[in-house]
Amino acid sequence: MTTVRTRIAPSPTGDPHVGTAYIALFNLCFARQHGGEFILRIEDTDQVRSTRESEQQIYDALRWLGIEWSEGPDVGGPHGPYRQSERGHIYQKYSAELVEKGHAFHCFCSAERLDKVRAEQMEAKQTPRYDGHCMNLSAAEVQQRLAAGEPNVVRMKVPTNGVCVVPDMLRGEVEIPWDRMDMQVLMKTDGLPTYFLANVVDDHLMGITHVLRGEEWLPSAPKLILLYEYFGWDKPQLCYMPLLRNPDKSKLSKRKNPTSITFYERMGFLPQAMLNYLGRMGWSMPDEREKFSLDEMVEHFDINRVSLGGPIFDLEKLSWLNGQWMRELSVEEFAAGAQKWAFNNDYLMQIAPHVQGRVETFSQIAPLASFFFAGGVAPDAALFAHKKLSADQVRQVMQLILWKLEALRQWEKEPITGCIQAVVEHLELKLRDAMPLMFAAITGQASSVSVLDAMEILGPDLTRFRLRQAIELLGGVSKKENKEWEKLLAAIA
Ligand code: GLU
Repeated sequence: MTTVRTRIAPSPTGDPHVGTAYIALFNLCFARQHGGEFILRIEDTDQVRSTRESEQQIYDALRWLGIEWSEGPDVGGPHGPYRQSERGHIYQKYSAELVEKGHAFHCFCSAERLDKVRAEQMEAKQTPRYDGHCMNLSAAEVQQRLAAGEPNVVRMKVPTNGVCVVPDMLRGEVEIPWDRMDMQVLMKTDGLPTYFLANVVDDHLMGITHVLRGEEWLPSAPKLILLYEYFGWDKPQLCYMPLLRNPDKSKLSKRKNPTSITFYERMGFLPQAMLNYLGRMGWSMPDEREKFSLDEMVEHFDINRVSLGGPIFDLEKLSWLNGQWMRELSVEEFAAGAQKWAFNNDYLMQIAPHVQGRVETFSQIAPLASFFFAGGVAPDAALFAHKKLSADQVRQVMQLILWKLEALRQWEKEPITGCIQAVVEHLELKLRDAMPLMFAAITGQASSVSVLDAMEILGPDLTRFRLRQAIELLGGVSKKENKEWEKLLAAIA
């Protein structure tokens, strides 16, 4: 019997997402329960958005939670490289194979032509899709245009009628009509593969037997299935996991809930409680107990117990569960945990230089700097009263700064200042108009240490969280404002 092999295949763009940890956890449990292996692959074919920092954060966040993989870019293994950006030659070869077999073709259409076709299709109320323009070019013409170095992509052929039956471990057979599938681009003009080609090739070459992935991928499953058929490969068992949701049932998004694993770490959640909570997303123990460890989950794991109703990721419920775990720690474990979290030398050494000049005794440290050891800070709304700006402008400035900071990858004082500067300049304001607002939101106090230093030390997660909380406190952002301000944001350098 073949060994069960599962994987998590995150794209290293942005913060490490709780959804990644959730899917990783279920893949890990499934593999372990069958005595198999769980591996990690980095899908970084989007060269613009992928970063090594984000990749490292994914490793750190998963390890913090206690999720370990037996093969991956950082630990190696027999099926490497495990980073898609290092596997270019492999995809080239398989793409060429598909073209040769007549399952895919070179497409030389310009962006302008594709836009025009799309616009015409929309006009005629048709689903926009590639119209097959380059599908039947003669071999000679293709050769000649390739030789001339004409930019091109490789597209896969797809049937135009009938349905594709997607066998899903949770839903049974899901029928998806072929006419919903576009002639997917497999290789881009830059010679790099898209998700579809790279994912299928790698899952095959890495011996993946079961793919548990988020249900947002279900609609495109036919394209993957067809690729397996084109190559003549056995496809893995497919399992589309229900998406995590906000308490209002919408798809989990950072607008409504912090989605970065590092946020939960900074908030002082216990990794084992967090993992436990993720295990409760759409799944339950046979005896319905709420608190369980990873080992217990593996022991009782049964993929058929996953229920398809969208699991709600609720901060309050997570906090409750974390409290259960906290109280069951020994006092020594509790103290050690707190120390590791923020009462450690490293963190104190970051704070000390900003506090030292402002106190006369050590006993003044805590009142001055307590916000360094807090999650939210619940500032008084009166702290946001502004001499120059209206209440609406106050919210606007803060929201724009928050958006800039959400996009900031290099979390240091200078670029942080740059974000604030860019916003105030665009609004024809001064840095000193915005700073008191930042101060109130971040420290929750009327005076303390320098807020820019504080933001750097607190890190992106807590800083953004506090800004979001302050904006909520001041009434939030309406849909209309959101639209208008996003336009403004786009115009800010
Ligand atoms: N790179 C994809 C992602 O980031 C992987 C999806 C899959 O599991 O196939 O979600």
